[in-house]
Amino acid sequence: MKKTSLYTLPVLCACLLLGSSKPVGGADGTTAELEAALATIEAVEIGSDVRFLSSDDLAGRDTPGPGLKLAARFIQARIQRLGFKPGAGEDFLQEYPLRHRAIDLSRSAFSVETSAGESLRLRFDEDYLFTNGEVWDHTIEAGLIGAGKGEREDIEGRDYSGKWALCVDSGRHAGLRRRLLMQAGAVGVIVLPNAELPDQKRREKIRRSAMWAKRGSIEFPEAELEKVTVERPAADYFHQVYLTEAGFNQLAARIGSSNVEELAIPGRQLDWTAKDERFLPGEGGVIEVENVCGFWPGSEPELARDVILISAHYDHVGTRDGKIYNGADDNASGTSGLLAIAEALATHGPLRRSVMLIWVSAEEKGLFGSQAWVESPTLPPGSRAICNINIDMIGRNEPGELYITPSENHRKFNTLGKLAAEFSPLEGFEELGDADAYYERSDHANFARMGIPVAFLFNGEHEDYHQPTDTYEKIDTDKIRRVSRLVLRMIAALQSDNLDL
Ligand SMILES: [Zn+2]
Repeated sequence: MKKTSLYTLPVLCACLLLGSSKPVGGADGTTAELEAALATIEAVEIGSDVRFLSSDDLAGRDTPGPGLKLAARFIQARIQRLGFKPGAGEDFLQEYPLRHRAIDLSRSAFSVETSAGESLRLRFDEDYLFTNGEVWDHTIEAGLIGAGKGEREDIEGRDYSGKWALCVDSGRHAGLRRRLLMQAGAVGVIVLPNAELPDQKRREKIRRSAMWAKRGSIEFPEAELEKVTVERPAADYFHQVYLTEAGFNQLAARIGSSNVEELAIPGRQLDWTAKDERFLPGEGGVIEVENVCGFWPGSEPELARDVILISAHYDHVGTRDGKIYNGADDNASGTSGLLAIAEALATHGPLRRSVMLIWVSAEEKGLFGSQAWVESPTLPPGSRAICNINIDMIGRNEPGELYITPSENHRKFNTLGKLAAEFSPLEGFEELGDADAYYERSDHANFARMGIPVAFLFNGEHEDYHQPTDTYEKIDTDKIRRVSRLVLRMIAALQSDNLDL
């Protein structure tokens, strides 16, 4: 059940009497269509969207991740049903490449084959580790030679050409060991755990680094795609594999010996081969992620070429150490607000100018989704973006607390800021605070690089910002409703013939 505006009925009647096709507005100068559209925006409905988007099932909407994909499809289904046009060519989803430097666990493995034909396949993180600096597409298969504790006297004067060096962890000199073994021709080192070693801190460090190898880093491909593929010359490459206790115990069971020192006697040839296969996700680390774009065409042929961009990022920071970062305020709030605006536009019908709603991904990784859009804008031929309003974190803090950038103190202050100041008291924000310190911190910063005016609406930071405690229960859904209404009022005010932005 939608709320009914006080103004809707009388205004519609007046229109009929006047025979006008354009209904005159409510008391504050709004049209009947706008009143009806504003009334479509409801806190309860917004709340259900925030609840879904910030649910544990979406695992914090990390870029990349299944939770993010699910969120994108949810948004797409909603705007498609509302009658939006695909905003990325034939599609609602704009795919763009990112480079994910992480270990692809589904394809990577370390396996050992003994002379007796026994083979053992170990699992990364549980059975073996390597550090995050060593994540590349690369495979090495070679025989093994013992190399003691990897000390100078164990290595110098011996030939390790084309072989894995098998070392007992000495707890020190890893850099020196690596250099000496490379000089001696080894392709890599397999480090066996040393039960007598007191230095747990170092192993902990390796484990943490391995965790980062799993999570990886996300980069925006600056160069053309061919150059993105991560390739490291084999000559430079020296694999280091640390077997964990669990990994070594499996090996010991197969070979019937758990005597690490005996296994690693310097110069002792073992009749085994070891294969280390490391793969980045996708093609050499290049993965595709998505922005969701919905287009709401304008009705006046000339003005419809002007496209108003409204954006919110739908990604968050994912799951860390088993804790889900739900990102209810950041930015399930803005994502849901944008969905509410989509519904309101569907109720309103076409405006004179066109509107593109963009839910971007990878904001938390470095504003990459908006960067990708700005580098390849998905605008219909002949049209141009004229401005951007970006909403990110609009459901927390005091009900009347809302900030904007560029504020009037900022050199980029523009008409959007004036409109926001004019309409915000109508939605319970007596005065907008200044968020100029955040001018570079969300997606509007990228849209501004197109040379268009932007406005960023934001509720300010709070103690749950980027914490697992940014959850649904704390969200002020009525605040999201009012910010969404404010944005809709701003969009509606951008329809005059001679618009001066
Ligand atoms: Zn955010």
